[in-house]
Amino acid sequence: MQTDGYASPPLDSCPVCNYSLRGLPARHRCPECGFEYDEHTRVWRPRNYWKFAGFTFVCCAMGFLQAWDAFSDGNRTKGLICASILAAVIAMTIYAYRRRPFLAVGPGGVFVKTGFSVVDHLRWETILDVSVHKGGERRFTFIRTVDGRKTEVGAVLRDMAEAYELRELVAAGLKRYAAPERETGAGGRGG
Ligand SMILES: [Zn+2]
Repeated sequence: MQTDGYASPPLDSCPVCNYSLRGLPARHRCPECGFEYDEHTRVWRPRNYWKFAGFTFVCCAMGFLQAWDAFSDGNRTKGLICASILAAVIAMTIYAYRRRPFLAVGPGGVFVKTGFSVVDHLRWETILDVSVHKGGERRFTFIRTVDGRKTEVGAVLRDMAEAYELRELVAAGLKRYAAPERETGAGGRGG
């Protein structure tokens, strides 16, 4: 039976700062950055990251073979250059992985990071709804705020099902977390 909310598996790591959350209570704050979460918190991550990781792995393997070759031929300079490039690629991959895009719905609001930009934090009291529509092959998913701002989040979601799931979770979150003094009805909605 569907209960209120969607109890997702416990979070392994903080979506914002990647700090490990293993062993912490289901309802807590990230000890590192303060990201608030509970048993209803849901985090989405783009799946295509693993394609990127696979590509990087192939590059690393080739770089390693090149370096190995150069060192065994006694070409120390070439070997060192290959080894440095290899180290840089690995460091960049780890950096990119730790800062990968995500979308999180939790007690503190909605957190969005669609690229290598800063995390956009939308508080519950500022959120209006989620708008999902399809234009040909493309899908558009926006989080709309009461001030008329739209935040595109489609890049983080895999398909329409995830977009609709987000819409439902945000509607449920508004009921659960938004302040009771939130204005309803007349005024504020604009238009
Ligand atoms: Zn954190």
